Amino acid sequence: MKELTQKLIGGVHAGLLNRGWPDRLGLYFHNVEAGERAAFSETIRRLRSEGYRFVGANEYVRTDTKSGGRVAFLSFDDNYVDWHEMIPLLEELDVQAAFYVNTGPMRDWATDSEIAAYYEDRLRYKGSRTRPLSSAEVRELRDAGHTIGVHTHNHFVLSELPFETAKEEIYICRDHLEQMLGQRMRHFSYPFGMRRHFSTELQSYCLELGFETIARATPGLLHERFDGVTIQRTDWRLGDAFDANRVRMSVDGHVFERLTGRSAVS
Ligand SMILES: [Zn+2]
Repeated sequence: MKELTQKLIGGVHAGLLNRGWPDRLGLYFHNVEAGERAAFSETIRRLRSEGYRFVGANEYVRTDTKSGGRVAFLSFDDNYVDWHEMIPLLEELDVQAAFYVNTGPMRDWATDSEIAAYYEDRLRYKGSRTRPLSSAEVRELRDAGHTIGVHTHNHFVLSELPFETAKEEIYICRDHLEQMLGQRMRHFSYPFGMRRHFSTELQSYCLELGFETIARATPGLLHERFDGVTIQRTDWRLGDAFDANRVRMSVDGHVFERLTGRSAVS
C-alpha cells in the first residue's frame, strides 16, 4: 500500500502537486551512520545552493521568510550516540541542528534489555548502531551550539495512552533534560509525528508547560501557512537521490488528499 501511495504521489505530482521548494524547509533525520555522512554533507551543500540558510529552532520560527529568505531547520529524533560523533562534521558544515531526545534509554541509567526494547520494539530501528547517548554527551551537543529538545521518555504513541500517562511521558523527559542541562526546555517533538499520534489536549498541555515550538513529521505540509508554534517537518532520505527528495519536499499534501482521497498527512 505504501508503494502504491508513493507511485500515486509520483504520478500526479508532475502536473498538479508540485509547488517547488518551500520557504521553510523543516527536515528530520533519525540516525546518520558513518557510511551516510558524505551524502548528508552533500545534501547540506546543495540545499545551501538552493538559497537555504540553516538556523536553530528559535530563529526558524521568528524569521519572516518574505524579507529573510528561505530557512532550513535540521533536526534529529530519538537517541543515538552517533549524534555526538557528528559534532565535528556539523561544525565543519557550519550548521546548527536540534536534537529531540528520548530520556528513557539514556546510557547512564537504562539496562541493556531496556535499550534493546527501545530500538527493536518501539522504534523498529533497522540500522546497526543501537547505542544511545550518555548525559555528558547530550551536554556536549548543547555546548557545541545545538538545541536539545524533548521527545518523551519512552517513545510510545501518546494518543494511545491514558491522558495522565501521556502527560507523564512528556514532563518526565522534560525534567530529566532540564536537570541534565541546567536550563529550561522550550522545544518538543512528539513520537511518530503524524496527526493521529497527538491530540489538541496534549497540544494545550505542551503550551502550558512552556514549549515554544512543537515539531511534527507530516509529509506534504511544508507549504502550510506557519502558525507560530508548529514546525512542519518531512524526512530527508539519504539513500534516495537529491531530486527524489526534492519532489517529496514539493508535494502539497492537501491537494494530494483532494485528488486521491488518501491522506498524506494523517
Ligand atoms: Zn521518534
